[in-house]
Amino acid sequence: MDHKSISIPAEVLPNQSKIEKARSTIKTSLPDKGIGVQETEAHLREDITQGLSNSSKSSRYYGFVTGGATPAAQAADNIVTEFDQNVQVHLPTETIATDVEYHTLNMLCELVELDPQQWRHRTFTTGATGSNIMGLACAREYVLQKKAKGQGLSLSVAEDGLLEFALIAKVQILTTVPHSSIRKAASIVGLGHKSVVDCSMESTPYKFDMSKLENALLTPSTASIIMISCSEVNTGMFATESRQEMEEIRRLADAHDAWIHVDAAFGFMARLLPANKDFGRIRGGTEGLELADSITGDGHKMLNVPYDTGFYLSKHLEIGTQVFQNPNAVYLSAGASMIPSPLNIGLENSRRFRALPVYANLIAYGRSGYANMIERQVTLARMIADFLHASSDYAVYEPSPNMSREDLLSSVFVIVLFRAVDTGINERLVSSIKETRKIYCSGTSWQGIPAARFAISNWKCDPAHDFAVIKEVLEEVVKR
Ligand SMILES: *Cc1c(COP(=O)(O)O)cnc(C)c1O
Repeated sequence: MDHKSISIPAEVLPNQSKIEKARSTIKTSLPDKGIGVQETEAHLREDITQGLSNSSKSSRYYGFVTGGATPAAQAADNIVTEFDQNVQVHLPTETIATDVEYHTLNMLCELVELDPQQWRHRTFTTGATGSNIMGLACAREYVLQKKAKGQGLSLSVAEDGLLEFALIAKVQILTTVPHSSIRKAASIVGLGHKSVVDCSMESTPYKFDMSKLENALLTPSTASIIMISCSEVNTGMFATESRQEMEEIRRLADAHDAWIHVDAAFGFMARLLPANKDFGRIRGGTEGLELADSITGDGHKMLNVPYDTGFYLSKHLEIGTQVFQNPNAVYLSAGASMIPSPLNIGLENSRRFRALPVYANLIAYGRSGYANMIERQVTLARMIADFLHASSDYAVYEPSPNMSREDLLSSVFVIVLFRAVDTGINERLVSSIKETRKIYCSGTSWQGIPAARFAISNWKCDPAHDFAVIKEVLEEVVKR
């Protein structure tokens, strides 16, 4: 990923008058006679794009976790549109689209050092929310089937429906600081927001309190899903920090027929960091990932492919097929094959050829290209954290109290949560930063106080260059 020779827009956002002007060009009523292709193209280029943000084009957009789109992925995405394949049924004599998807998912397993033979239920999704829905749907099926079997009953959610289990068991999702999409997924799969149960440590809320977890697993007539946040979106912290911890959670899960789902939407990239003095601690947050039952990952974030792409990996192809089987559509049957038809193992029937931009990135940049990208991103995050830590105008989030500088920096992944010390300045902090249009941060809250957050995820990240601009802005906004 040659990030040095690329140009980036000077401003992360168009200014307000440009936005208003662009908004005024939006056609708001259906024309009887269309304006034609040429004029439409001109309208899109000259009017509409003027009002779009540079969240992907600029390496200095640090809102949410948005990633960018590499040249290889953009080229691939244009081909996806041009050929407009419907990747739902494996049709090996007609198209190689499913073969590409299959091998891309294999390479993705290799990228994160997971054995593709073990992760046989794998597919591309619309994003991490889609993957989390799949994870909870499979987990729900698994834990409830186990509960029913324990009572001598043969029931499945896929066949019999959730209500059949009402007299046998409830389902709870045991977790620490879950992404908001977990509660959303819990609602969609019929478990409900209230099924999410906090098992975090009081002192370090992103981590599991093992005795709370064990006690919760003992709840009578209740089946359990353990949901691990592998890099939490607000602070970047990991719910586990070693293989031993994952082994302990695995042992508890097996003892109680629980399913382990890991939301590693962007955290999985830490697997590419070397286990050395600088990065060992962060890498530790992904050690033992192989012990999970299912994993959520995003493509449109750290993999830097265009929207919308995520992936789902699970070890339980049989459960996945029970949940997602598109039943009785004989005309869609592909026969026996190594490669399952995507419509039988995922949410959608008709699907975009989402694999191709990921395929393009993996072969264009390889493991070392991605490893270099994530190292640059972590380096920039740590430069920012270091600056904030040393500054008397700012406070930076510390995962535990009174950390030394070295200790603090070794805990920083790609998210930096911070606030201004002065209350008045802090109230306006995010808007003051945005107003500069040189960089963009998201607002959030930290212990109930407004805070700001950097999330570094663009492939164009250039630590020295970007930090110079960030420092200038951070120094400027406290002077106002
Ligand atoms: C972004 C994110 C999600 C949701 O992902 P989408 O791709 O926006 O659906 C879920 N979990 C985590 C940890 C995330 O960072």
